[in-house]
Amino acid sequence: MPQLLLTVEDYRKLVDKYDTFLFDCDGVIWLGTTIIEGVKESIAFLKSQNKRVVFVTNNSTISRKEYSKKFAGFGMSISKEEIFSSSHATAVHLKNIVKFSPDKKVFVVGGQGVKDELHLANIRFCNKETSALKKPADYKEFVNDPEVGAVICGLDRDINYAKLSIAHLYLTLNKDCLFIATNNDSTYPVGDFNLPGAGSILSVLETSTKRVPTIVGKPYKTLFDCISADYHIEKSRTIMVGDRLNTDVQFGINSGIDTLIVFTGITSEHEAMDPNSTQATYAMTSFGEISKLA
Ligand code: PLP
Ligand code: CA
Repeated sequence: MPQLLLTVEDYRKLVDKYDTFLFDCDGVIWLGTTIIEGVKESIAFLKSQNKRVVFVTNNSTISRKEYSKKFAGFGMSISKEEIFSSSHATAVHLKNIVKFSPDKKVFVVGGQGVKDELHLANIRFCNKETSALKKPADYKEFVNDPEVGAVICGLDRDINYAKLSIAHLYLTLNKDCLFIATNNDSTYPVGDFNLPGAGSILSVLETSTKRVPTIVGKPYKTLFDCISADYHIEKSRTIMVGDRLNTDVQFGINSGIDTLIVFTGITSEHEAMDPNSTQATYAMTSFGEISKLA
């Protein structure tokens, strides 16, 4: 069972034990558009203690720059270097892990966040409009592009059949074309309800191509390898803080680092402390509690 952190002494030991704190955002730092009480002060305290903080999100639809603006809206000064979105991680994966050739380009099923991060990493991508494609001959013309060496799939709010068909053709006509997914969340939260996530779009391509993608986002270790490609990470001094057992805590377990589950988001104390559920190292009511050390 996770060790339940209850006292200021427990909090102090936690802060002393780690140098790098990886944070999930929604459910830990904020809930939608509302910051969670005490969290801003807790992060400021960690920084005052020279701790490194990195915000890790599966949301690929907005760039790190946009995330930084969201933090600024809460009065938190967080640079884009402190943010690791699945879109940025996908660009790091292509550039630093698989060493994607600069002569090749990517076909994107995804949002602006993916395109912005590819652009920042100097990775070329197709910008041709797909929605006008109607006849099989139109597709043939489109996919006759030997420069396309990867298909990236993330959440795409402008998804259409033509775009999926083009991605399908690249992946099936060329077995060397890489198949990479930003994340495979089945849904994502919007206010009081959930909408289909990147995984729901990805499943169309998995079904049609019968290919297995490399999935970058939590809970896969790919994301940790991308973070490690950008920062020197000492695993024994690094902890993942999250509100979900199947993404955040499982990500920590897959990466070989300790984890802290908080009860400000999806997971209740009852679920986190259930011996049959995914086991975090530690549990606490809210990361805002750390501000009591300030
Ligand atoms: N995907 C999208 C489109 C989202 O908006 C979100 C959360 O807001 C997520 C995934 C999950 O992100 P996180 O890893 O920050 O919980
Ligand atoms: Ca979350």
